[in-house]
Amino acid sequence: MKKNVVLLRVSTDMQDFNSQKNGIDKYVKENNITVHKIIEEQGVSGYKTKLEDRLGLQELIQMAVNDELNSIIVFNQDRLGRRLEILSFMTIMNEQNVKVYSVTEGLLNEDNDTSELIQAIKFWTANYESKKTSLRVKNGKRATIERNAYSGGVANFGYKVVDRKLVINEEESEIVKFIYESYIDYGHKRTLELLEEKNILKRGDKWTKTKMFSILKNNIYRGKKQYQGELLDFPELQIISDEMFNKAQERAKSRNTRGTRRYTNRTDILFEGLLFHKCEDGIDRKLNIDYVNTTAGRVHTYRCKYCKETKAQITKNFISTKLEPILIENIKSIMNNISIKELEHKYNEEITISTDKITKSIDILNKTIEKKKKAIDSAMNEIEKIFMGESNLDINIPSNMIKKMETEIEELENQMEVHQNELEYLGDTTSNAMYLLDKYKDFEYIYDNSMNEERKVILQDLVNKIVINQDEINIQLNIY
Ligand SMILES: [Zn+2]
Repeated sequence: MKKNVVLLRVSTDMQDFNSQKNGIDKYVKENNITVHKIIEEQGVSGYKTKLEDRLGLQELIQMAVNDELNSIIVFNQDRLGRRLEILSFMTIMNEQNVKVYSVTEGLLNEDNDTSELIQAIKFWTANYESKKTSLRVKNGKRATIERNAYSGGVANFGYKVVDRKLVINEEESEIVKFIYESYIDYGHKRTLELLEEKNILKRGDKWTKTKMFSILKNNIYRGKKQYQGELLDFPELQIISDEMFNKAQERAKSRNTRGTRRYTNRTDILFEGLLFHKCEDGIDRKLNIDYVNTTAGRVHTYRCKYCKETKAQITKNFISTKLEPILIENIKSIMNNISIKELEHKYNEEITISTDKITKSIDILNKTIEKKKKAIDSAMNEIEKIFMGESNLDINIPSNMIKKMETEIEELENQMEVHQNELEYLGDTTSNAMYLLDKYKDFEYIYDNSMNEERKVILQDLVNKIVINQDEINIQLNIY
């Protein structure tokens, strides 16, 4: 017959010992548990004593392995030992179907227990068993995804996991809504500024461009989840309307290759915000807009504030009536001479190189993560051996190693996410450049037939930056 065993820690503190004993007596009576055996552990502290000295636990493990154990009753988890020891101990008990009761916490290995520790135990148990169950997990994954959109791991921002189901996290979902609204209205730079001003974090971390775009691009926010090339519907997870989601995608698509769109409408000045001065010290500084009165009336000029203040001996003031026609002629000439084929070729080449680089980094990261996971497996095996009495290693060694590896893996996985976003961004940039090229292939005609306001929009769209040097104008467009 399988036995019910009480594990009692003999304490030097009599009062502690008595309260343990009384608690257990009361508990077994109330729950009609027949106690077959009491194991008293001499003078050990659950937290400080090495496992090999925990004769009581060793005896329990031996009984469990011999299939002689039905249940264990302890006063509380502290009497079992350090957290990691409990986890491994519980793993063995679970495997042998031994129930572990704690007087103060109830049945410790009950299925629907949600206490934090038990969750941790289950997590570790799952890790420990991952080798055995990986095949089953793979097959079950799709079914799980179809049922509740959750396939393990950390929940996406805006959601939380409740009873192994993904549900909306109200507080985080408000931040998601804010990001979409603000991005559609003001773009990513301003949105990041606003998040910072409002001191809004992503689970404790500062928001970055990459983090923000991973929110803006994820279908989950409109209640859909990608699985093996299919979009599955999860209306209960929808935070963002389809309309809003699409608007954000459009804005992301028309994003400039270098930074944000600068539709500055403070003035009707054609090159507002686009002109830079190559100052005497070689640094590019934005030109300010100024006005002068001439015989032809009031006209605007582009003036370098810095060179004016430092009294630089170079041209620092450019009158619009002279400068603007030159710039327009130059842009027209560039656009007329662009060969779409050549550019396409150049793009493909650049993108192949960058993509290769990133893919290689991802590959290395993957291999490193794999290695670290293997190390965790070995450490878990070592812990098992310690429990089975086959190893005299201090349990702190594998335990600390696992903790270290887990942190490192998490870091590597973050790096991986960054790389994957880079790859995505790379694709976006190209399509945006090709889009602009196609849109303005008849630049001269379009420009000449536009009103002043439209012209400004076209230039803001097409021009990244124009640097004016003493005897040279460097025009950088958003297409190469
Ligand atoms: Zn200057």
